[in-house]
Amino acid sequence: MSSRRGLLFIVSAPSGTGKTTLVERLVQILPNLRMSRSYTSRPLRAGERDGVDYNFISREAFHAMVGRREFLEWADVFGNCYGTSAVDIEQLLVDGQDVVLVIDVQGARQVRQRAVDHTAIFVMPPSFEILEQRLRGRSKDTEAQMQRRLATARAEVGSYGEYDYVVVNDQLESTVVRLQEIIAAERSRTHRMRGVAEAVIRTFTRSANRE
Ligand code: 5GP
Repeated sequence: MSSRRGLLFIVSAPSGTGKTTLVERLVQILPNLRMSRSYTSRPLRAGERDGVDYNFISREAFHAMVGRREFLEWADVFGNCYGTSAVDIEQLLVDGQDVVLVIDVQGARQVRQRAVDHTAIFVMPPSFEILEQRLRGRSKDTEAQMQRRLATARAEVGSYGEYDYVVVNDQLESTVVRLQEIIAAERSRTHRMRGVAEAVIRTFTRSANRE
């Protein structure tokens, strides 16, 4: 069993950038990486399952959780509330699981303000035009909703400087590889490798004692 505490990653990107698809691929590929399941007050969409895509709860239940300070972070995104349960995340991290939160820029700011150890990655679309094409291709939004998403995206892309890493999602597979590389690099940082390094050092000490 590992005594290592898991690492916390945040991935933010404007709506339509493909962040959920990217992170779903990433957790399929990487052992020991889990995507957190948020709570939301938004209604289920066709094909979504409660307890799988999100924990779907009423607005009242959501605000009760806010009142009890149960969220590590939460935000109102496009008129619905979304939040990450602090207890759920802590449990995973204590179990040694690395966890990725797919949250908006407001949520990422709250995690930063709480001085919780984490690595934040911002995913950008290749251009505004490509983002708009992707959004219009997949969405059943009204034109007003579409304009709101695009306006939010414009505001959000300017936040990239608050993040530790930036990747441009020009091509799914190569972007997944870049995200894997970031995670591998973070896992290999010296202060996180101390346990492993010290175990190797002990084999040297044992061999020196035998001599
Ligand atoms: P959707 O309704 O399309 O699933 O998600 C809308 C937005 O909510 C996305 O930008 C997503 O990143 C964000 N989101 C999902 N879960 C959370 C969360 O727990 N906290 C925050 N701050 N944003 C979230």
